[in-house]
Amino acid sequence: MSKTAAIVLAGGRGTRMKSNVPKQYMLLAGNPVLYYSLKAFEESSVDEIVLVTGEGEEEYCRTHIVEAFGISKVTKIVKGGKERYHSVYQGLLNLDEDTELVLIHDGARPLITPDMIEETITQTRLYGACVVGVPTKDTVKLIGEDGFVETTPDRSRVWIVQTPQSFYYKLIRTAYDKLFETPVQGITDDAMVLERMGDHPIRMVEGSYMNIKITTPEDIQAAEGFLEHEKELQK
Ligand code: C5P
Repeated sequence: MSKTAAIVLAGGRGTRMKSNVPKQYMLLAGNPVLYYSLKAFEESSVDEIVLVTGEGEEEYCRTHIVEAFGISKVTKIVKGGKERYHSVYQGLLNLDEDTELVLIHDGARPLITPDMIEETITQTRLYGACVVGVPTKDTVKLIGEDGFVETTPDRSRVWIVQTPQSFYYKLIRTAYDKLFETPVQGITDDAMVLERMGDHPIRMVEGSYMNIKITTPEDIQAAEGFLEHEKELQK
């Protein structure tokens, strides 16, 4: 039977957080950041989760997160690489041949929901490749190396890209295999890897402004505020 898999990335060092604890293990309302995204995938229809961690963190993740919180869909915990795209590739290499769809998600985005995951799966079945994102609220400018403004893209067409980014497995695996034949710098998301091949459209799926990536210390406070707000709504 064909499978839907998720690769959850937790292999970053989080230097922008200025903390000894990588951001994916920091506490958010009492639980590790990574727990929340694993739980959302656990509660979704994905069949398996491959968790990618930093070197030497595999056992910590297994005992303190996966087993401690009973995340039963995690089938493998694998070591990541230097950059995000190296970690993604390790995840892809660890999926079975019969995997049909793969959702790639930043473990540092704890506020993803099972509903958003289902919407992503539906859109991927329709379009083969899709990314979750939101229209920018702010004007965006491209800045030169000299620190001066170069251009201003049309704001109505600028979206902020999040994760999951989701694809037919064979499509993204081929694109990543090609990337590693002639690696380039500055790959910051998965859609970019497919864009380099240039022959497959990528559908943008409207996500949520709450699906933030925990990157700097104030993001923890923002995410706790969002969680609190959600709790109030459920009362
Ligand atoms: O560094 P950045 O904020 O783009 O990281 C996005 C996600 O990718 C995070 O969940 C982080 O743990 C993961 N990552 C990784 N391996 C790396 C760098 C980042 O798994 N080498």
